[in-house]
Amino acid sequence: MGSGNAAHSGGLVTKRILVVEDNELNLKLFCDLLRAHGHETRAVSDGRLVLDEARAFAPDLIIMDIHLPHISGLELIGVVKGDAALSAVPVMAVTAYAGKGDEERIRAAGAEAYVSKPISVVKFVETVNGLLAAVGA
Ligand code: MN
Repeated sequence: MGSGNAAHSGGLVTKRILVVEDNELNLKLFCDLLRAHGHETRAVSDGRLVLDEARAFAPDLIIMDIHLPHISGLELIGVVKGDAALSAVPVMAVTAYAGKGDEERIRAAGAEAYVSKPISVVKFVETVNGLLAAVGA
């Protein structure tokens, strides 16, 4: 693991993406996908650590599971958007729900985008790329 960073995918610009997800399989899937596209990831599975991890990592994008123990992803989006150092970082919510009320709550909390679980790999990657392009990150 530790020393494999020298290999870059040709032509891709590496972005820093914080992945907040308490399900191990989803966490691995998301990180594997993002790394396969040349990005650097940091995984957080405990919502209580998100603010500290985000401040330390200075991500270009945050991927946020909504259902987390201890603190909900919705609440965390509000925390991120209320933080001076992080408020401009786009947030992509990921949730098992795709109901209209859920989307409205996610948008109202401040997320720029959401992708429903189980994810479509194509949609996931397209949404990530769209958000990174939109902020010129
Ligand atoms: Mn979850």
